[in-house]
Amino acid sequence: MSHHPLHLGIDEVSELNQELSEKSAEHVIEWAHNYFDHHMVVTSSFGDATLAHLAWSVSPLIEVVLLDTQFLFPETLSFAHELQQRMGGNLTTVQPEGIAADVELWKLDTDACCAVRKVAPLERLLEGRHAWMTGLRRDDSTMRSNTQVVALEPFRDVVKVNPIATWSDADAAAYKARHGLPENPLTAQGYASIGCWPCTQTVEPGADPRSGRWAGQDKTECGLHELRVSRVKVSSR
Ligand code: SF4
Repeated sequence: MSHHPLHLGIDEVSELNQELSEKSAEHVIEWAHNYFDHHMVVTSSFGDATLAHLAWSVSPLIEVVLLDTQFLFPETLSFAHELQQRMGGNLTTVQPEGIAADVELWKLDTDACCAVRKVAPLERLLEGRHAWMTGLRRDDSTMRSNTQVVALEPFRDVVKVNPIATWSDADAAAYKARHGLPENPLTAQGYASIGCWPCTQTVEPGADPRSGRWAGQDKTECGLHELRVSRVKVSSR
């Protein structure tokens, strides 16, 4: 059993969650950055600028990672790089391994495609890290309605930090307005939740934003945030 100084037990995490749930997102990020330093990584899909902007406002040294599935919209990649340049932030893009860039696995099996293009790169990214920060919000969907600000991530041996878990859609909009943040250009075209181009559709105004992801399939999540038993890594450590 690991007793690394950064290792937090279940009781400590639960106390931290209670304490930090009352604090601002900036405070949570500052705490996490000070505590975990480079042992923490932030992932953002750059559907909007909120999380990356928050993280880099606390410190441009915080590593924000865009999981580049090789099927992202070019607009998303430019949007991420523009924000990185504006803020001088630490941005990394991570690409899949073991599959050629042009293999359209999504046409055959979207779960398998997400597994190799998103989940496996995330697992590699988290190897040796102690914390993973995301922009999950309870308001995103019912599946995410129990998202905690600080939680142990089952199976991945990291602490998951979700500094904007409690933000409503209105809170997120107010933050963007306050800081004059640009929107991903696809938002104006009717894309409410933005992922890979083959699996993202526009939605009608007022519809569930995530209904445009894998439309017509049961799938609502890519597996980054919801592990299925078949994907659990069996570790020999
Ligand atoms: S969202 Fe679609 S294209 Fe992107 S990794 Fe998943 S199945 Fe593949």
